[in-house]
Formats: sequence, C-alpha cells, structure tokens
Amino acid sequence: MKKRFSKILLSKILLLVTIFLFSLNIFAKNKTPLLYVGTEAEFAPFEYLENGKVVGFDMDLIDEIAKIIGYDIKVETMKFDGLLPALQAKKLDIVIAGVTVTDERKKFVDFSDTYYVSEQMIVVNKTVDTGIKSFKDFPGKDVGVVLGYTADLVVSEIEGVNIKRYNGTGEAIMALKAKKLDAIVIDSEPAKNYSAQNDDLTVIESDSAKEEYAIVLRKGQDEILKKINDALKTLKENGKYDELIKKYFK
Ligand code: GLN
Repeated sequence: MKKRFSKILLSKILLLVTIFLFSLNIFAKNKTPLLYVGTEAEFAPFEYLENGKVVGFDMDLIDEIAKIIGYDIKVETMKFDGLLPALQAKKLDIVIAGVTVTDERKKFVDFSDTYYVSEQMIVVNKTVDTGIKSFKDFPGKDVGVVLGYTADLVVSEIEGVNIKRYNGTGEAIMALKAKKLDAIVIDSEPAKNYSAQNDDLTVIESDSAKEEYAIVLRKGQDEILKKINDALKTLKENGKYDELIKKYFK
C-alpha cells in the first residue's frame, strides 16, 4: 500500500516537474526580444518581393545578424521616404534598405559599420536616342529619381535638369519604359537588375561618387548598435558575408 502510494506521488511530482519545465520553455521563447525591421521591397537584389515574401541580400544579412545577437525579427515594408521618420517615431527599431550613409541623415539617425559600397548609375531607354552618355549630358533633360533617394541629391547638383520625383523605383522604371523620361538615376545594383529584366533598358556607367550602405538605428541605441557591428564583423570573418555576396551578386 505504502509502495503504491509513493509511486503515485512520484508520478505526480514528475508530472509537475514536466509542466514546470515546459512552461519555463514557453516563457523563454516568449522572452526572445523582437526587432522591428523596416525596408522598402523595390530594391533588388537587396530587398524585393518573391511570392509575397520580402527577400534579398539585406534580408539574409539581417537574419544572420539577428541569430547572432539573439533577436527574432519582424519585417515591415513601406515607401523609402517613410522609413527614417518611422524609425524616429519608434514604429521601427532598425532600417535596412540599402541606405546610404550621408552627413544629413547622420544628424537624425545612427549608422552601423558599412556593409556594402555602391554608386549611382544612369538607366536609359535604348529605343530612344537621347544622346545621354554621362551626367554631363543631363542639362535640359527629364531625369527621374525616387523621392528621398541619394540619387536626388546627385542629380540636384547638376544645373538645368528637369528632375521628376517618383514614389518608388518601379514607378520611375515604368515612366522610363513609357518614354516619359530621358533617363533615371538609381543605385548601381538595382540599375543593373532592372535593365537585365527589361530588354528596352540599359545602364550607362558614369563616374559618380561611391556610397556606403549601413544599417540605420535611432540615435542613442548604443548597446544594440555595438552588437550589430560585432555581428557584422563575425559574419565577415566566418565567410557568411562572402557567401551572401556570391548568392546575390553574380
Ligand atoms: N542608397 C540610396 C539611398 O540611401 C537608395 C536606397 C534605396 O532605394 N533603398 O538613398
């Protein structure tokens, strides 16, 4: 009788311990902090939509970083122009969207270490003879840029250009295809990507200044900024970064 009683007790204790451990596990899972990541999914190969999911170099990179620093991530997409304001309004924790480090942006936000070096390129419709061979040929021409992109700064410095600003890269590309523009200026990788996908478009390589991409954080998030920079360093050292470069840039 006594033996039977202790057996029941033992199994009850075991059950309680199991429930306790199980709930600890759930608790631990819930405790993984969540990082709200903002991007604009019209910037292949850095970020673009594939079967309704945001994929690309930046997305893989931030996944790898999140794994190292122990965060789950939730990706939110919006127009490029809205990303930094949303970050400042605390609707996002970080932004990764091929964002170029500029002195103007540095006044409002912090940047991680650089993870990619890019430049601006001219895309033209090759079925139209515009005579554009470089930025020098821009005066008097209709040139499209996307609102808030660094291309706007580059083109705005050239006098006499009729700049047309679009809400997204897709819109600017459509206008160029529809011959409403003489050229558009966008970052080198998306420029190559869009022209590879559109037979009527071609890229003109011109000497524009180099631009550095970095992850953007709200000012004062020094602890997580340091973690991100350390993780970036780890990924560059362990070969993962090179693997992603090979995957997205042929
Ligand atoms: N690199 C450019 C910028 O920061 C464009 C970025 C983007 O379109 N995602 O303005």
